[in-house]
Amino acid sequence: MARGKLIYEGKAKILYEGPEAGTLVQYFKDDATAFNAEKKEVIDGKGALNNRLSEYFMNGLMQIGVPTHFIKRLNMREQLIRQVEIIPLEVIVRNTAAGSISKRLGIEEGTQLPRPIVEFSYKDDALGDPLVPEEYIIAFGWASQQDLDDMIALALRVNDFMSGVMLGVGIKLVDFKIEIGRVWEGEFQRLIIADEISPDSCRLWDMETGEKLDKDVFRRDLGNLADAYTEVARRLGVLPSNAPQPGKPTLVN
Ligand code: 5GP
Repeated sequence: MARGKLIYEGKAKILYEGPEAGTLVQYFKDDATAFNAEKKEVIDGKGALNNRLSEYFMNGLMQIGVPTHFIKRLNMREQLIRQVEIIPLEVIVRNTAAGSISKRLGIEEGTQLPRPIVEFSYKDDALGDPLVPEEYIIAFGWASQQDLDDMIALALRVNDFMSGVMLGVGIKLVDFKIEIGRVWEGEFQRLIIADEISPDSCRLWDMETGEKLDKDVFRRDLGNLADAYTEVARRLGVLPSNAPQPGKPTLVN
């Protein structure tokens, strides 16, 4: 499919105009960045893995009635998505303390939280995506109270789904970040999951060994990032068809 005009280039993805009005082509780059792009590297295969994994999670979410922007995967690095108006917030769900909550509150990494905690960061690289209270979100008009309620409900459904899927392959979903967008259907707006769901935006720990299988491998120099993502894809049975497949050969369609 011929790509249209470049609409937006981010740190890990590029958006192009799609073939029809209201669609975009989302291209997954191999670039890895951390600490607000202070640390950068190109990791062979990361884009293809995230494209596959995001397809897998978004498809699963649609099957349980959680609306997402995903339409179909086009090739190794690209997927067709619905164009949305992105709400300028990162929605983070935490099951276990790690990362910034551990630093901020002095909670040891790995401590189970009393219940899933949903928090919001304002999407602004120059400010380092600061954590914001709901009061700011409403006061500055980034989202309404109804949107916030809907976003929390969506985030918790994604958390239940992702936790279950990961549990099934021996991985603990520690936390994750999603982005949510608005689509208009006539006069009505609906909120849907946008961006990507992949090990770039989740913390995933092996349940037995505690091994990290997510972007912290890159952030904290813990080994090869593509190997970690390949392990997640292998366990879920969604390896790209040209990747080396350990074990028995399986049929691919
Ligand atoms: P923390 O706030 O602990 O740094 O991150 C919480 C969770 O959200 C982690 O799974 C982390 O990967 C994800 N996350 C937070 N900010 C970003 C971001 O800007 N980009 C991506 N890809 N993930 C993020």
